[in-house]
Amino acid sequence: MALSAQARQWLLLLTALLILGGVIAFNQFQDYQRIDAQERERLSALVDVAGKNIVPQIVLADRIISNVINALPAWQAENDGLKRANRELGIINDTINGIPPLLVMNASGTVIVSSNPKLLGMNFAYRDYFKNAVKNPDPKILQVSAPFKTVLNDFAFTLLRTIKGPGGEFAGIVVVTEVPAYFTNLLDSIRYSPDMWTGIVHGDGQLFLISPDRPGIVGRDLAKPGTLFSRHRQSGALSNVYSGFVYATGENRMIAMRTIQLTTPPMDKPLVVEATRDLEALFAPWRQGLLVQSVLFGLLAAFAVLGLWTLQRRRREQLAERQQAESRIGDLLREQRLIFDNAHVGIAMVRKRQLTHCNQRMAEIFGYDHTQQLVGKNAEILYASAEDFKAVRSQLYPMMEKHGYAQGEVEMRRSDGTGIWIMLTGRSINPATLADGSIWVYTDISERKKADEKINELAFFDQLTGLPNRTLLLDRLKQAITASSRSGSFGALLLIDLDNFKALNDSLGHDMGDLLLKQVAQRLIMCVREGDTVARLGGDEFVLVLPGLGLDEREAAASTEVVTAKILATLTQSYQLGTMTHHSTASIGVAMLKGGLVSIDDLMKQADLTMYKAKAAGRNAVRFFDPAMEQAVMARVALEQDLRLALQEQQFLLHYQAQVVGDGQVTGVEVLARWAHPSRGMIQPFDFIPLAEETGLILPLGHWVLETACRQLAAWAKQPKMFHLTVSVNVSAQQFRQTGFVEQVLEVLKNTGANPQRLKLELTESLLVENVQEVIGKMYALKAKGVGFSLDDFGTGYSSLSYLRRLPLDQLKIDQSFVRDVLSDANDAAIARTIVALAKSLGLGVIAEGVETAAQRDFLAEAGCHAYQGYFFTRPLPVAEFEAYAVLE
Ligand code: C2E
Ligand code: CA
Ligand code: CA
Repeated sequence: MALSAQARQWLLLLTALLILGGVIAFNQFQDYQRIDAQERERLSALVDVAGKNIVPQIVLADRIISNVINALPAWQAENDGLKRANRELGIINDTINGIPPLLVMNASGTVIVSSNPKLLGMNFAYRDYFKNAVKNPDPKILQVSAPFKTVLNDFAFTLLRTIKGPGGEFAGIVVVTEVPAYFTNLLDSIRYSPDMWTGIVHGDGQLFLISPDRPGIVGRDLAKPGTLFSRHRQSGALSNVYSGFVYATGENRMIAMRTIQLTTPPMDKPLVVEATRDLEALFAPWRQGLLVQSVLFGLLAAFAVLGLWTLQRRRREQLAERQQAESRIGDLLREQRLIFDNAHVGIAMVRKRQLTHCNQRMAEIFGYDHTQQLVGKNAEILYASAEDFKAVRSQLYPMMEKHGYAQGEVEMRRSDGTGIWIMLTGRSINPATLADGSIWVYTDISERKKADEKINELAFFDQLTGLPNRTLLLDRLKQAITASSRSGSFGALLLIDLDNFKALNDSLGHDMGDLLLKQVAQRLIMCVREGDTVARLGGDEFVLVLPGLGLDEREAAASTEVVTAKILATLTQSYQLGTMTHHSTASIGVAMLKGGLVSIDDLMKQADLTMYKAKAAGRNAVRFFDPAMEQAVMARVALEQDLRLALQEQQFLLHYQAQVVGDGQVTGVEVLARWAHPSRGMIQPFDFIPLAEETGLILPLGHWVLETACRQLAAWAKQPKMFHLTVSVNVSAQQFRQTGFVEQVLEVLKNTGANPQRLKLELTESLLVENVQEVIGKMYALKAKGVGFSLDDFGTGYSSLSYLRRLPLDQLKIDQSFVRDVLSDANDAAIARTIVALAKSLGLGVIAEGVETAAQRDFLAEAGCHAYQGYFFTRPLPVAEFEAYAVLE
């Protein structure tokens, strides 16, 4: 089982404490052992010394006894010898302290010689030592008696030898009484500690002496079984040291014992010297040390345990707190997760365009099985294309950056590629920066959108044809009028009514009628520009709104006429209705509209009225509400027809206008087209060039002009007075743009044999509005062949300087509008000067057109422009007249 961290800590602490405790205990134990061993050694040395000191005393006593035995026969032989003996013994006794009295007893125990006269004649046969001597009469043995109380009430023991009679029989004893004083000094001298006591014990166990003395102890028999004394005696060793219960005093002590047993003379009983120490006192310092260490250890252990316990408790508390907090957070997260997962809207987190999270509903909305199919993907996956995504971002992110919040209805894409409408609501996680990501809520609003669309359709669109209905038409009309009043541009309202529709409906049925209406609707849509409205009013009535037809009413009407002609032509083509082929025509009423002039109602009425006029005129016709307008339109239509014819019949001719330098030296000529109309006379370019442009007739016309001019150029090349002239030809933008223009020019040059170096093409700035690169390419191609270029009407367009630099131009032509007022209008004067300077800086030539007076010419000359064209020199002239003029000049 694995231990908890806390248990491990406890285990560690306990082990550490145990080891420390062990070390301390071991140390103490060793100390104890050392003290104990030291003390044993000391005590045993001590009793050794004591023993060694006692031995001489015994030997001394024995010698005295032996001397007395030896001297005894002599004393007994002489008269009064015993008296002398008493004296001598008295002297010995006085000399040698501690052995009183010194006695000689006869075989019956009566004292016959005594160191103490008082004891003479006394009988001690009752004494044990005497009885013992009688029993063991061996004179060689030194007999050591058990301690006893003397008549003097002293405690003593005796040393004695027996005396042999002449016949070898027991003849008495010589006895020395040893009293404690004899040993006390000796024993006291070895005591080195107040708690110590020393003693002498008779070999049979009676305590003879204890010092310092203690009452009632002396005489006690120590040879009881189990006592330390018995142990010592039984051990057979000379000396022993024990610790334990000392029987003599009933104390716990260390005790050293030494047996004193002489061999010469042989002692019948040994003496035992004892020295003891109080264990209590001996180990007191050690015990104190032990106590101190134990207390310290205990304190340490207690602190450690308390510390660890406190620590662990704090840990537990912290843990509990953290767990509580975590569980609170966990609850919160679970709650949020629940909300997130079960939300009825899609929720996703986006960071750096990556979907980092999304909920199940989100996957469902977008048709994925798992959120995992979305997580980690670029959010682009939710859109039909990268462009869509980009568009949405550019719509919503600025909002988000500004408000931290964005919302929009966006068309997105499901996994199967189908579109889905989403209400997208985003919030940046950190309002300060988008970099931290954003949270998006996706609400599927496809159903609502569909419903909206349906409602929209029902409300604004015709169910049959899908065209806008009357409601939407009126709205669009209103918009057109508003736009018109803002821009001043004209528009047109067309009411189209199918001819004889009722007859078809009646004869073939409504289904066929509906089929026709649908096809008519389709064809009408094909006839108009983007931004125009085609609506169905109901029945067979359609309405067209054409806004933005320009500032000129006639032009607007002309444009409208072009459309109506197209419509009539389209609607006249046959229809396939099921298996049937059907023919139909329509009548159109046109009302021109301009903001603020006529109300919507009136406009509708005008168109309606006019449409009936068209019907009345025989159907398949167009009528304009304003008769003047109608006339103009009709004239234009006629003119257009004439124009086509004119090209075929070669009614065009060229006039030539001189280009001069300085005082009037002719250097070139601009060719200008004229139309010699069979009935209307000479028509000026302003009246037919725009129409030619509109109808595309400018292309054949332009080609004719170029060819004619080049033929003239080739012809002049042969005339000495004319060959140096350059010929400038106006080229319209449409003409220049047509594919194969370069080849066309080159072919004309080749066919006519004109010198390209003398040909100059006049281009207008309108050419530079689009596809500049292509224009430049064409110019270079022609330039390479020597053809020159002049930029016509310069100053009226919007040429950017950067284009100018890139074009291989030769000349700028200052527009006549500036020249006209160059003397009266400071602005125009400045422009003229600027153009001259510009031309110089670009390294181009400059020519002024429309010069009508000498003053104008002088001004221009002063400004640095020395080439001119204008009535001041000559008007555009027929070729013969021009030649005459040029030769004259
Ligand atoms: P534009 O190219 O600017 O030609 C110069 C016009 O200014 C000519 O008118 C000319 O008669 C007129 N003019 C010349 N000197 C003076 C003067 O001192 N005072 C005044 N008031 N007018 C002067 P025009 O011939 O009627 O030509 C009109 C415009 O028709 C030309 O303007 C040009 O844009 C166009 N055009 C003429 N012929 C052709 C052609 O063959 N092809 C093309 N594409 N356009 C042509
Ligand atoms: Ca011109
Ligand atoms: Ca011009």
